[in-house]
Amino acid sequence: METISCYDIITSKKKETRSISEDTTMSEEQRKNNAQQSLFSVKKTVLVVDDEEINREIMSAILADDFNVLCASDGKEALKILQDGEHKIDMVLLDIFMPTDGREVLKVRQKDKSLKNVPFIVCTSDKNIEEECFHLGVNDFIKKPYENPDIIVARIKRMIELYEDRSILKEVEREKLTGLYNMEFFKKYAKQFDALYPDVQKDMVTISVNRFLLINELFGKGFGDQILLTVTNFLKQYIVSNIGIVGKDSGSHFMLYCAHNENYDKFGDLLIDELQRLRQDINISLRIGVYPNVSPELDKNIVIDRTKTVASTLVDDYSKTIAFYSEEIQVQTLHKEELIDAFPTALQEEQFKLYFQPKYNVQGKEPKLTSAEVLIRWISPKYGFISPGEFIPLFEENGLIAQLDDYILRKAAEYMRVWQEKYGFYIPLSINLSRVDIYKPSLLEDIVSYVDKNHIPHECVYLEITESAFVTDSIAVNPFLSKIREYGFKVEIDDFGSGYSSFGALADLPFDVVKIDMQFIRSMDSNPKVKDIIKMIINLSKMLNATTVAEGVETEGQYLFLKENGCDVIQGYYFSKPLPFDEYEALIDKEMKQHGC
Ligand code: C2E
Ligand code: CA
Ligand code: CA
Repeated sequence: METISCYDIITSKKKETRSISEDTTMSEEQRKNNAQQSLFSVKKTVLVVDDEEINREIMSAILADDFNVLCASDGKEALKILQDGEHKIDMVLLDIFMPTDGREVLKVRQKDKSLKNVPFIVCTSDKNIEEECFHLGVNDFIKKPYENPDIIVARIKRMIELYEDRSILKEVEREKLTGLYNMEFFKKYAKQFDALYPDVQKDMVTISVNRFLLINELFGKGFGDQILLTVTNFLKQYIVSNIGIVGKDSGSHFMLYCAHNENYDKFGDLLIDELQRLRQDINISLRIGVYPNVSPELDKNIVIDRTKTVASTLVDDYSKTIAFYSEEIQVQTLHKEELIDAFPTALQEEQFKLYFQPKYNVQGKEPKLTSAEVLIRWISPKYGFISPGEFIPLFEENGLIAQLDDYILRKAAEYMRVWQEKYGFYIPLSINLSRVDIYKPSLLEDIVSYVDKNHIPHECVYLEITESAFVTDSIAVNPFLSKIREYGFKVEIDDFGSGYSSFGALADLPFDVVKIDMQFIRSMDSNPKVKDIIKMIINLSKMLNATTVAEGVETEGQYLFLKENGCDVIQGYYFSKPLPFDEYEALIDKEMKQHGC
């Protein structure tokens, strides 16, 4: 009998051994058949590792019709074939007791990524080593001595098929950079996780890095990737000691479905420590939304959405890292959904009412009504009075704000026309624009059309936009507002002092009016330093030839301080709350009488 070298391939049951290139004995017909076969399906290659020559020969004979067979006479040789990459090995049949123990091969395979996709079957007569081999990652066992060749072939074929499916799946199911499950497979495996651990209480957790896009932009994509990989490693480590599965959503959003944890504060602190180690000169913060003790009956999409909803409550608050889903939040979420559903009818039925908060010029002897800010109110037959503080952020989130503000702009222009006809002069109005509105391509055109249709001079229309939009959305906001001013409209920076625009950048911003943030007015009595800040803002505004408005003025003391320090216009409960149309008109009537018009 010929000695079988480890690089030989047995191609027939007749125990002929030949290398792929030295195939001299094959008939022309066989050659054709083989070529034909390889066009349709490539024969899989099995590596038989056994120190007993007779065993190698028997197994080779069993497999020869269905597979290419390579043989190795011990573990070392086997690893050489597996690792040198000359042949693609689809399956290894491994003997355990050899000069280089088969278990050594299994240990190397556990560490070598390239070998993970090759299934291993151990051929043994010793039942006692099965458990140990399973722990070393073995996929199946074949009993020695070999009894039923057909079953052996069928089992090997099935195992190879399974592995091929699995590796194709692996590529589809995993996110490229982190290697974590994408969301589709995360949900699928979360269900399997329920089935696998029915008695374990589980939490759904979402983890996101605050300002990730900004960090990416400032420190480069490489650093962004480092952050994502650090979170990935942390979560992978976490599920080693606490069972669970990890998935990766878009951007810096990760999902974790794991055994219930009582201490997410510690979890968050440890992860932040890991991230902070990457760079000490920036503050990396997280938002973690937790849906604790998830009921397995609940649809995973709903659970994930709710977890994200709870995390979104942390978006503007970097001081808090963790938020928990609760019944209360669920009620709030449902209410929000109801409001969104109710919006189209509310708009159609004119449930949104324009209120007007008077603005007084205080630089003359007597305060004089000069204009008003339009503040919207939703008076719903079903829900009663709804504050804009509740629905404006909601509509900003889902884009409905653009429709609402369009309605307000149209109505405001119509009211101005009514007053012009009644009083014979124009009374200016300030209208709030959301930063989201700016992205509507037809916004300027719409404003011009409503205003021109009612013959309103452009300089009577003030558009208020919050200061932070000038900073965070500067690329879209600044050119838009410059254009608005070219058309003769006026621009007010709302909530000035809250958006952290640098004083240096201020000179380049396109605005006509600075509206001091209400927080300064609120705290000026308790904190004397705030008075200095207010004085500074007024002076700065004057230097830039802008008008200064103070809003939220409630007391005489506040009013007098502002007036004495040169603030031009005052708005607040000290003079008047926002008024409905009729009451505001009555106020204009009263003013006119007082001033003898
Ligand atoms: P904002 O533009 O900063 O409006 C000022 C808010 O302060 C108004 O609240 C107003 O009623 C309130 N306020 C006025 N004077 C005082 C005072 O002396 N003391 C106190 N404590 N509050 C005072 P409101 O009407 O609830 O509006 C809240 C926010 O909703 C507004 O803040 C604005 O950001 C938004 N908003 C209101 N109407 C509209 C609108 O038509 N379009 C858009 N996009 N946003 C609007
Ligand atoms: Ca405003
Ligand atoms: Ca404001």
